[in-house]
Amino acid sequence: MVDKVLPQNYADTEDENYYVCEECFLHPDIKIYIKEKGINHSCCLCHKEALCVNAVEDKGLRTIFSFLIRHYYSCLEYDNHGLNEFTELLSKDNPIISIPDGCDTDVVEYLTEDQPIALFFEPPISWPLKELGSKRWKNILSDLEQQNYDDVESKYLNKLETLIRKNLTSDYSNDYWFRARIGNEEKKMKLDEYGYECPIKSPFLGKDISAPPPSKAVECRANRTGISHLYLATTIDTAIAEVRPAPGHYVSIGTFKVDEGLKILNLCHTNILDYVSQESDYDDYVLYDIFRSEFETPLTPDKSNRYYKSQFITDIAKRCGADGLMFNSSVSTGINLVLFNTSNATYQDHQEKLVKIKKQSYRYGFVSFEKDNLRETYEEIVKE
Ligand SMILES: [Zn+2]
Repeated sequence: MVDKVLPQNYADTEDENYYVCEECFLHPDIKIYIKEKGINHSCCLCHKEALCVNAVEDKGLRTIFSFLIRHYYSCLEYDNHGLNEFTELLSKDNPIISIPDGCDTDVVEYLTEDQPIALFFEPPISWPLKELGSKRWKNILSDLEQQNYDDVESKYLNKLETLIRKNLTSDYSNDYWFRARIGNEEKKMKLDEYGYECPIKSPFLGKDISAPPPSKAVECRANRTGISHLYLATTIDTAIAEVRPAPGHYVSIGTFKVDEGLKILNLCHTNILDYVSQESDYDDYVLYDIFRSEFETPLTPDKSNRYYKSQFITDIAKRCGADGLMFNSSVSTGINLVLFNTSNATYQDHQEKLVKIKKQSYRYGFVSFEKDNLRETYEEIVKE
């Protein structure tokens, strides 16, 4: 057995052996939980002194752990194994916890103690629940294929209102927001008193870089044709990436300040901590995570008609009182903010910029085309 490094004030109680640190959990939502609730202690798995939560005393941690197991493992994987085998399963690569070789794994017994197993027995039992998706979303998509979107919105508005309102936030602070447009103004600059002029390029300003008028608004991720929304980004890089310029393009950049106190639908992250108070919350978690991924997943230009899904979510958010929504950019590392009322942001004079695109870079993963190994690698490779 591995000797444990115990803190000086270590009390000789059973529970003292079951502190687990932030580092040993791999899932980002558990890390968030430990950052909020943890105390400095020695971790029973890695034996480091770190921010820890006690698995025996902390019911919240055990509940989150149970939800995640249900999410990532099938009933067969969980139930056909005794505890030791399940601990073995968690000792291999998994998205929840890192169990170092040779350490005492009793703590897993406590973490899985409250396992609410009801959903494990829903068919098909050989699939992890995350693979099953959301029945509600499947119904919505089926209705959207056969009915007018406003009828479908009316049908589901009440059913989705609580979930949408739960995710409205006023915490979207960023000093400045940016917007890019491919192109520039061509002006003439007077060089001297004899009237010599030279052509110069300057960025679009004011209304020329703000949201287009409804008559010119074409459909996008969060608007239908003829509906004008203001799309902004947290960084200049993200704003540029979103308009997908090619090398050689000039791109104008505008700077905006966004009003405070708006209600913004936060689609950047689905935190499981918000969905663990009862069994039925699980379906809300899955559904909202689908909403998030609809905004975050890149769509190639030939598939832009699939925007009808994110447009449906946008319309429901609007009807629930949202002033806008924010989501992770699918082409950059920043965040996009869409304002439904274009006057909720103010254009900042004298902060305009004009850039010229020099090079484009790509991130890609290899896709296997061999029969025995049909998968896509998730490793991202950057080549410039
Ligand atoms: Zn640890």
